[in-house]
Order: sequence, then structure tokens, then C-alpha cells
Amino acid sequence: MVLLYAVLGLAFSSFLNVCIDRLPERASIVSPPSHCPACGRRLAPFDLIPLLSYLFLRGRCRHCGAPIPRRVLLVEAMTGLLFVLLWYRAGSPPYGLSLRLLLATLYTCFFIVIFFIDLEHQLVLNRVIYPAIIVALLAIPLTPNHDAAELLGGGAIGFGLLFLIAFIYPAGMGMGDVKLATFIGLVVGFPSVFAALLISFVAGGLVGGGLLLTGLKGRKDPIPFAPFLVAGGVVAMLYGQQIIDWYVRCLL
Ligand SMILES: [Zn+2]
Repeated sequence: MVLLYAVLGLAFSSFLNVCIDRLPERASIVSPPSHCPACGRRLAPFDLIPLLSYLFLRGRCRHCGAPIPRRVLLVEAMTGLLFVLLWYRAGSPPYGLSLRLLLATLYTCFFIVIFFIDLEHQLVLNRVIYPAIIVALLAIPLTPNHDAAELLGGGAIGFGLLFLIAFIYPAGMGMGDVKLATFIGLVVGFPSVFAALLISFVAGGLVGGGLLLTGLKGRKDPIPFAPFLVAGGVVAMLYGQQIIDWYVRCLL
């Protein structure tokens, strides 16, 4: 069953790649069907098989030989892997199809699209984040294990903290990050929202510092922050309760 879910993830990853390609250009994600961006030829069903087709074609279009972006492969691998983790962490009980799993899966798809669009365009698109927030709000009464106060409180904390940072330090944080933190808070709730934000800031600091030290990025180069927020959000969604339990045990 978990393999089946992973395959479902792989199948879905093609659609996520289309979203990442087309949403920043305001293009339709439904039509036209997938095509090579270089020669415009339509992809055959075989070319759409995730992972395998990329490896078989050695990362090139079969017609014109233009390289397929490595991100395509990365999205496919990441989606498959996350679907496996979701099955074990969000399926209940102990694993299996459940409303919680479906919601977590839906949120993960939003997270993946936001992650890669921000990485490539330094933008958190309203076209993506507003629907994500609306879905999270509508799902509040349906969310097991959390009451509405925890989830709304998480959203308020995510919004409040990042809004404050963006207000004090507008060069480092944009309103897109504030909206994303609101979404994460609504998804993971209180108190996991603190774990999500802490992980984002630590990861952002480490990676950002590393990029500066190695000279891969200059002091003035923008380093998108949404990918780190997404990483923190996904970890908190999957392991938030464990992190909070561990933290409480350390305090006692
Ligand atoms: Zn081509």
C-alpha cells in the first residue's frame, strides 16, 4: 500500500512540475498538454513516466535534445519520498488512508510548488498561497487531533511573528513569507508552529551563512526564504508533536 501511495505521488509530481513551470507565467495548468519548452513538441505518454523517462532519455528531449531541467527530476523524487513519509506519519491508525493523510498530502503539494517557484523566481505567488490559506481555513473543522483554537492560534502566531520581522527588516523578509508562515501556522497549529519557524530560521541561517562563506552568494544576492519556511513547515507537519514532546522533556 505504501508503494502504491508512492507511485501516486510520482504520478502527481508531473502535475506539480507543470504548476511550477506555468503558474509564474500566468499560463493555464490544464492546457496545452505537457510539451518540450525548447521545441514545443508534445510529450508522448512514455515521456511522462516520472523518474524512469528522465533516466532513460538521459535528461534530454527525445526530439530536439534540449536538456530537461534537473528540477523536474528533483520534484519527482521529492514528491515520491514525501508521499512515503506522509503515509507513515499522517496515515492513521497506524498507517492507511484517512482524512488526515489526504489533508497532509494536499498541503504537501502546495508546499512543493511554493518551494520551487520561490527558489526559481524569488516569489511566493498569491495565486498559490491564497488558495492554500483558504483550503487550510476550510479544513479546520475537519482536522483531527487539533481543535480550531490551536490551528487559528498557530496561523495568528505565524502571521504575527513574520509580519513583525518583515516590518523591522523589510529587506530580508517579504509579504509572501508572511502569508506562507500564516499558512504553515494554520496547518501545524500551536505549539508546532514554533518548531516550524525555529527550524526555518536555523536552516536559513546555516545555509545562508554557508553560501556566503563559500562565496557562492555575495552579501547583496537575495536568498529566498520561503524554501526554508517550507522545510520547517513540512518537518513540523510530520514530526511537530515529537519535537514538542522532546523539547518539553528537555525542560523538565
Ligand atoms: Zn524538444
